[in-house]
Amino acid sequence: MNLRIPGPTPCPPEVLEAMGRQMINHRGPEFKALLMDVLARMKKICQTDGEVLIFTCSGTGGMEAAIVNSITPGDHVLSVTNGSFGDRFAKIADAFGAKTQRLAFEWGQPVDPDAVRKALRDDPQIRVVLTTHNETSTGVTNDLAAIGAAVREFDRLLLVDAVSSLGAIDLPMDKWGCDVVVTGSQKSWMVPPGLAMVAVSQRAWKALDQAKAPRFYWDFQAMKKFQATGETPFTPAISLYFALSVALDAIEKEGFPNVVARHARVAAYARQMVKDLGLVIFPNEAYASNTVTAIRAPEGIEVKSLLKALREQHGVVLAGGQGRLDGSIFRIGHLGYVSEAEMEGVGRALKAVLSQIKAGT
Ligand SMILES: *Cc1c(COP(=O)(O)O)cnc(C)c1O
Repeated sequence: MNLRIPGPTPCPPEVLEAMGRQMINHRGPEFKALLMDVLARMKKICQTDGEVLIFTCSGTGGMEAAIVNSITPGDHVLSVTNGSFGDRFAKIADAFGAKTQRLAFEWGQPVDPDAVRKALRDDPQIRVVLTTHNETSTGVTNDLAAIGAAVREFDRLLLVDAVSSLGAIDLPMDKWGCDVVVTGSQKSWMVPPGLAMVAVSQRAWKALDQAKAPRFYWDFQAMKKFQATGETPFTPAISLYFALSVALDAIEKEGFPNVVARHARVAAYARQMVKDLGLVIFPNEAYASNTVTAIRAPEGIEVKSLLKALREQHGVVLAGGQGRLDGSIFRIGHLGYVSEAEMEGVGRALKAVLSQIKAGT
């Protein structure tokens, strides 16, 4: 199968092999060495002087962790959203008692940093700002540097969902003024689902110390304290740490800047391929993502049957639309273990299926 959804993504064979290793004591010297090594290498990719905390959970767990460690119930939170994942971040804040104000942008369009500035000016009580770096549901990458600069002007805490960008799209979090940045193993990292990596800037800790939302499993302070000794508070998904370590070997061997460049190249290839087939890119193309391409459903063609034909006849697995975009777009994931070759395969399959549908067979 050519699995080209925006996560989970295919894993290199050596990463899968690492998953088959025998268990080790998670409070013993081998895990300590593994953890310390992985954390140091993650820190480099996150480009932070702060900490990287790794939780055993999906990406959404990492988002919930970011919220519960940053807010006190009743806090004013600004949720800057332009898609389904941005809306999810807001819902998590709601669930923990924040007074969440939504600054919503049209799906397919980017966040406007000036509107963020205005919202922060209008409500000086806002303590925390939530945003999405790469909105997987629409295929838009927001200008996080500009959003970060706006939030920094007001010295607020910026929490970023970078689940489908970090590791594939450059995100110098300290330089861009991001305080808590969340990613997930099954996206750019070429690792199966199950780990959320949460990077916390050095300057964020003071604000985090004052946040009082209830938390237990997600407690950043506890995780930080344990990780400093080479352990985690609770039993970690050891196999996934094995996998992450091997995936980081591959990323380092290629060179992280080259990984970022490859994603840009493959994404440009995917967009051109789609346009050559007469299809229309869904988002504002100036902000089109380098990890996922969203495409308008071609006139008169049902997305469901398109995806079914691609899967059954060509072994190509693409994603449909989420939420209000269900049925009106489909998406190609091109992140992690991917090159032009796999996109070529997607293009061939799309071409065949589209002409078959047009011919009415
Ligand atoms: C995949 C994804 C998530 C997390 O999803 P999980 O299913 O919880 O891993 C969050 N945000 C974005 C932008 C994503 O692409």
